Amino acid sequence: MKIYYSPYTLQALSELSPVSSNRKREGALLKVRWIDGLIGYADLHPWPELGDPTVKEHLARLQEGKITTQVEQSIWLAHRDAVCRDNKKNLLEGGRPLANNFIVSDVAEVPGGLLQKLVREKFTHVKVKVGRSLQRETDFLHQAASVGLKIRLDFNGRSNWQFFEKFISRIENFKSAVEYVEDPVPFNPEIWADARKLVKVALDNETARVNWEKLQEPVFDILVVKPAKTDVQKAMKLCQKWNLQAVITSYMDHPIGSLHALAVAQELKAEYGDMILEAGCLTHSLYHPDIFAKQIQSQGPFIKKVAGHGIGFDQILEEQPWRLIELR
Ligand code: MG
Repeated sequence: MKIYYSPYTLQALSELSPVSSNRKREGALLKVRWIDGLIGYADLHPWPELGDPTVKEHLARLQEGKITTQVEQSIWLAHRDAVCRDNKKNLLEGGRPLANNFIVSDVAEVPGGLLQKLVREKFTHVKVKVGRSLQRETDFLHQAASVGLKIRLDFNGRSNWQFFEKFISRIENFKSAVEYVEDPVPFNPEIWADARKLVKVALDNETARVNWEKLQEPVFDILVVKPAKTDVQKAMKLCQKWNLQAVITSYMDHPIGSLHALAVAQELKAEYGDMILEAGCLTHSLYHPDIFAKQIQSQGPFIKKVAGHGIGFDQILEEQPWRLIELR
């Protein structure tokens, strides 16, 4: 197997997360050539702010013959792409299109009239990253609920119980519009059990702190699954075992990464039905459009397949300046 990489920088349009004020995001596209001649592409987009190794660190380990979890997932996705390319099919064809939530990474930067526009475009769910300003955020949520949108909240595990409880009490009279709250506070089974009495709770980045072996009963309702860094089949087994629903999302990564996540989401939806909720893969629009993003067409919450085989983008992918990773 030979692995090539092509570094890129994405420029975010607004602050993407309370955990990061850095609008420049570094990643690398990977091209994998298997011994049987198959070639597939995937993305490698770490979030060092959330504890991931940097791109350089991932690649340095790869040179030493060590495969990080994220690179393992990228290779898995590249293989899905390779097989599909070989069959002259597109990863997003077949299967029913799965709707995505719209993502608001910072309510302070939302343009006027956005919520009305989302409704017109037939979005049903909006995901909002919160934890910066109680007043501004709860006001925005109130407006979102008033226009009939379902709300997904994400505290990114950065909040504390006092803030979280106060936040929920502020939205008490439209709480039914809240589908779930992601990582309300740092993971702690007792505190999460209390949080779950107030709203449905989803486990995302706090997964790292969960000791599944010791878990007596689930203290969350939903698992956020990111194919970019999570073994998807293992995650599905956990969902079945603990009776959880799953949301498949991108890693706010390169369009190649978000389309890969969506392809996985659509396949899981076909296989698992109601266990799989609306996806969260419509994230390429959070960045200044690059040559890839410019080819993506979306219609409201739906993303159309990009022409080409596998994940699409055949020609642009071929033309990237690929560098071979020389194994030491
Ligand atoms: Mg999250």
